[in-house]
Amino acid sequence: MKSQTRVVVIGGGIAGCSTLYHLTQEGWTDVVLVERNELTSGTTWHSAAQVTNFGAVQTMVGLKSHSIKLYKELADDPEYPINYHHADGGMRLANTQAHMDGYRHFASVAKGMGVEFEIIDAEECARRHPLISTDNLLGGLWDPLDGDIDPAQLCQALARRARLAGAEVYRNTPVTGLTQHKDDSWTVHTEHGDINCEIVVNACGYRVNEVGAMMGVHHPVMSMEHQYFLTEPIKAIEEAGHRMPLIRCPVSDYYCRQEKNGLLVGFYEQDCRTWGMDGIDPKFVNALCPDDLDRVTDVLEGAFARMPALTEVGIHTVVNGPITYTIDGAPLVGPIPGKRNAFCIIGLRAGLGEGGGHGWLLAQQIVHGEACYDTWVTDPRRFTGHCNVELTALKAIEDYQNEFRFHMPHEHRPAGRPMKTTPITPILAAAGAEFGVVNGWERVAYIKPTPDFHETHSFYFNETFDVVAKEIAAIQSGVGMTEVNGFNRFEITGTGAKAWLDTMVCGRVPTKVGKVGLAYLLNHHGNVKAEATLANLDADTIWYGSAAASEYHDMDWLQKHLPDDGSVQVKSLTNDYTILVIAGPKSRELLSAVSRGDWSKEAFPWLSVRRAFVGIAPAVIMSVSFSGELAYEIHVPNNQLYAAYLALQNAGKPLGLSLFGSMAVELMRLEKGYRHWKADLITEFNPMESALDRFVKTDKPAFIGKEAMLAQNEKGLRQHFVSLVLDCTHAPAHGGDSIVLEDGTCVGTISSAGWGHRVGKNIAMGFLSPEYSAIGTKLMVEVIGVPVPAEVVEFDLYDPENAKIRA
Ligand SMILES: Cc1cc2nc3c(=O)[nH]c(=O)nc-3n(C[C@H](O)[C@H](O)[C@H](O)COP(=O)(O)OP(=O)(O)OC[C@H]3O[C@@H](n4cnc5c(N)ncnc54)[C@H](O)[C@@H]3O)c2cc1C
Repeated sequence: MKSQTRVVVIGGGIAGCSTLYHLTQEGWTDVVLVERNELTSGTTWHSAAQVTNFGAVQTMVGLKSHSIKLYKELADDPEYPINYHHADGGMRLANTQAHMDGYRHFASVAKGMGVEFEIIDAEECARRHPLISTDNLLGGLWDPLDGDIDPAQLCQALARRARLAGAEVYRNTPVTGLTQHKDDSWTVHTEHGDINCEIVVNACGYRVNEVGAMMGVHHPVMSMEHQYFLTEPIKAIEEAGHRMPLIRCPVSDYYCRQEKNGLLVGFYEQDCRTWGMDGIDPKFVNALCPDDLDRVTDVLEGAFARMPALTEVGIHTVVNGPITYTIDGAPLVGPIPGKRNAFCIIGLRAGLGEGGGHGWLLAQQIVHGEACYDTWVTDPRRFTGHCNVELTALKAIEDYQNEFRFHMPHEHRPAGRPMKTTPITPILAAAGAEFGVVNGWERVAYIKPTPDFHETHSFYFNETFDVVAKEIAAIQSGVGMTEVNGFNRFEITGTGAKAWLDTMVCGRVPTKVGKVGLAYLLNHHGNVKAEATLANLDADTIWYGSAAASEYHDMDWLQKHLPDDGSVQVKSLTNDYTILVIAGPKSRELLSAVSRGDWSKEAFPWLSVRRAFVGIAPAVIMSVSFSGELAYEIHVPNNQLYAAYLALQNAGKPLGLSLFGSMAVELMRLEKGYRHWKADLITEFNPMESALDRFVKTDKPAFIGKEAMLAQNEKGLRQHFVSLVLDCTHAPAHGGDSIVLEDGTCVGTISSAGWGHRVGKNIAMGFLSPEYSAIGTKLMVEVIGVPVPAEVVEFDLYDPENAKIRA
């Protein structure tokens, strides 16, 4: 066994084998995999191993598509062929119009990644799968490349190729401890000796938290018991002359594929069970949980109704094994929060299908610092400190119970709520607030007009359209207030703070005390990594503000680049403060009524910051606006938030102060062309491609990513960020929808969209091939799968002179 290597991957299931193989493909061959037993002896060996292209967002589609290409290549390798039923085809069934709408949207999402799905009706479903009945069936989404693979052979093939490239695999070598050294390198302690390395990767499946504990980390991953059975041969299958396509049902939550001449049917029952929550028997190896088919009767009935042949055939094997889930259903693949040189590829609930792609994107992150796709959807840093074991269990159960039920627009599921609240959450609830969840925080989405108001989640405009329109109108003509909790806030102090920040951002750091500026941080590839509002509070203090979920991500990046001389300190105040935003032409009057001092346009113009009191509550007040109206952000310590809220409410009464929510903000910012981090700002594009040219100061001597950005600009724009207006009044576009030409050719992707109430237009923003990005270009955008006319427009559709903000 080597005693020194570059990377140690811990765990030899699909996650570990794929990572090891892809590290060698990225050029790192001095790498090792250690496995406590034999390869695939965790979950992987008994997986149903279905491999599909389907994903709700483009990164997931792209990585699954990579798996399929890789597995096909492995299966076709004459030296080591493996069993892969490639392209049997698979259908996701639709029983409701909402399912069909969703599938049309997801087909458009996939199109942007070069993946073609088909939307078929019920008769066509039955034609392709002769065993199904069409009762209550509207149709489905067809993935022509769906299939299944032999999981053990797949892992052996990946390990074999990795070994051929120079990697080493140590089986029957349990990792017993991890020690990190001052230089951030690691010693991996195993039962057979120590291995020193630069980087460790946790790929330990359901034992993720045993290895996590060795580095003092709890990962928000929970195992659930999951069962499938295999039937005896079915005559109709033997006689069909072709393999049966795969089926997934969003109503009864089962899947089904052909296994030999019978069927394999897997279930996601409501009466489900977590597994291993209080520890796992060390001897649980190549093992299964006891069968319990009684538990799955609810979903079994649905499967029987859809495939009556199942009622006439015997079951010969039941498999019940642990499968891992996270808080939001997507895996954790990337840097481990709070640790240096430590990565994970865990929480895989569909690891056979996705594993090829996850290992690919993880290896790129390890070797190059970033992957070819934006990986925020799987970034372990997307959850901050709230994701404890109890919350993880509740969300895992909820996700398991809804396995094939995709989230509808604006749907926030109830388990584990409320998780993070502020002192005024109950007060806002009493005022009629409907909440959404942002990184665990209950944030006001809109104010319900009546207590029994009910929103039908839909891809179309729904009941909230008029409600939000009224909130916006009230802001536009008077003054409104909302709470923005969870907003990320770092206090950056020290004599070197401003000079150091200047090297971190591609634009200007506000140099004058009392000034605020928007800045962008690039990665080493010159692409957009983060967006920050920088507020110059005093000589050596900057407040760095960014999106609610970015706390661990941004802190990681800043700390990684801190100077060694101790001249800069970064402290998180994210959980200590909350923002009350007041917006509208009367917001200055309101502020002046609650806070002493001169708040006139001359004394406190747009983009100013000042410490002051709101009533008796100390606050940091900024004149910044995400709505396009005159607005102020009032940052208040949580223990005095209620006092500040009351002061504003009381002073606001004579001014007609109303409440509003994040949906209004979301629509207003579209009218101004303001971006949303991780929707419109992603690591795939540099600031010029993201149309942020005015925030880039190339005359600065140095900033992270400068050379790479300039080199890319020499080659030209890969895509260009634009704003579009759609000729469509029944539905907004949705993130991921394709922008197409008349002939259907995909030329871009929508990143965010919604109705601009103040301008009366259906607005969408997105990335587009540069040759189509000129203002006035006419294109089409697929809205719920149907192309509608669209035109490229200026970003600033509302008040382009910023007269209102500066008023
Ligand atoms: C019944 C069932 C059906 C499924 N069907 C599908 C499907 O159809 N399609 C699909 O895509 N996915 C499916 N899955 C999910 C899929 O099988 C898993 O996502 C995948 O196998 C997880 O792989 P992994 O490498 O993360 O974990 P594992 O396969 O569990 O591998 C982790 C490895 O880490 C090793 N390890 C743990 N601790 C240590 C240590 N201290 N030192 C060294 N090594 C250690 C373990 O021994 C193990 O080999 C199914 C799962 C189940 C349970």
